[in-house]
Amino acid sequence: MKSFEEARELVLDKIVPLGTERVQLLDAVGRVLAEDVTAPWPMPLCDNSAMDGFAVRSADCAPGVTLKVTDYIPAGATSEAAVTAGCAARIMTGAPIPPGADAVVPFEETSEGEGTVTLQKEVKKGAHLRFTGEDVGVGDTVLAAGTVLGPAQISMLASCAAALVPVYRIPRVAILSTGDELVELGTTPARGEILNSNTFAVAAAVRLAGGEPVILGIARDDHESHLSLLSEGLKADLLVTSAGVSAGDRDLVRDTLAELGVEEQFWKVAIRPGQPLAFGMKGTVPVFSLPGNPVSTMITFEEFVRPALLKMMGHTSVKRRTVRGILQEEVRKKAGRTAFIRARVSVEEGRFLARISGDQNTGILRTMVGSNALLILPEEGSLFPAGSEVSLHLLDPSLHLEP
Ligand code: AMP
Ligand code: MG
Repeated sequence: MKSFEEARELVLDKIVPLGTERVQLLDAVGRVLAEDVTAPWPMPLCDNSAMDGFAVRSADCAPGVTLKVTDYIPAGATSEAAVTAGCAARIMTGAPIPPGADAVVPFEETSEGEGTVTLQKEVKKGAHLRFTGEDVGVGDTVLAAGTVLGPAQISMLASCAAALVPVYRIPRVAILSTGDELVELGTTPARGEILNSNTFAVAAAVRLAGGEPVILGIARDDHESHLSLLSEGLKADLLVTSAGVSAGDRDLVRDTLAELGVEEQFWKVAIRPGQPLAFGMKGTVPVFSLPGNPVSTMITFEEFVRPALLKMMGHTSVKRRTVRGILQEEVRKKAGRTAFIRARVSVEEGRFLARISGDQNTGILRTMVGSNALLILPEEGSLFPAGSEVSLHLLDPSLHLEP
């Protein structure tokens, strides 16, 4: 049986980023840039004023000197009239510096008369100017392929007039639940029936990771139903199934996938919960067969499918960052398995303090709802005393926020 790390590395080795597409600038937010972007022109495009004030020749300037105002250059205007000796041009922020001028004196450092301006201070050459290309030179690489596009990157793209942006495609993720006991949302379950919650748990996690869920519904525990729905699922970019992957006599997922040409890479991982997890590939399409208990489904999605999805979307950082926290109570686990313990983390004086969030039985969904992190306890070891330093995966982004 593979260890958690071995299994996850194997998954990530097999996954290749999807193809790319060009999308409208705003639709690129949160996506991963697929090509380097270079500046089509210098930024700023020309020397311009950084302040509202007067464009002057610094050599003419001294405290008390009065200059004649011979031009007016508001933002959006340009002037080719040179500023000559003893003169100044009234200029607004962003307007190009006229020929002859080599500095700007802000209004705050002048007193204005009728067609004149009197200076209060020394003026240094280059003062309050923004120089051609001081931000970015023409042809500079401003964004490298692989960059995740946030507001700053979108701003840079807009400055380069990139109306269409090359990004990695969004994976279509087919989601299939299996089991004769399952009933669809909108039904009140009768004795022996279970509402299909996994489809929604997986679809929600796919959306949050940036993928597009494609819901296939429920495969019944017969060969026909599995065959038709699994083959449908293999048309997507990635297929996630839940349940029917243990050794039960009606667990048909693995055999049917094999029949459809999926090459199984592993079955069973030394983890708890989620041990029966299977992973296979058909061509470039990864197939994750997750165990059916909702808690196992969600945890194996988090630890295996989410990193795979992020890699397909072109991300280079795909694993949840592991942070260290202090255990507030003793925890016991089975030796020989990496344990994912549902936990509640608080931040005190900059440290993460972790408590178990409740019953760890995989049938208990409520504990998952009350958790904001997973404790990752290593394969070896079975007793972790209060005060131990442990690894955590933070599931809730609000842990990084303050009220
Ligand atoms: P299995 O792996 O098929 O034995 O399923 C394990 C457990 O997970 C059973 O108790 C199932 O009822 C439950 N389960 C399976 N699929 C789902 C689902 N789609 N939604 C909620 N619970 C499920
Ligand atoms: Mg089943």
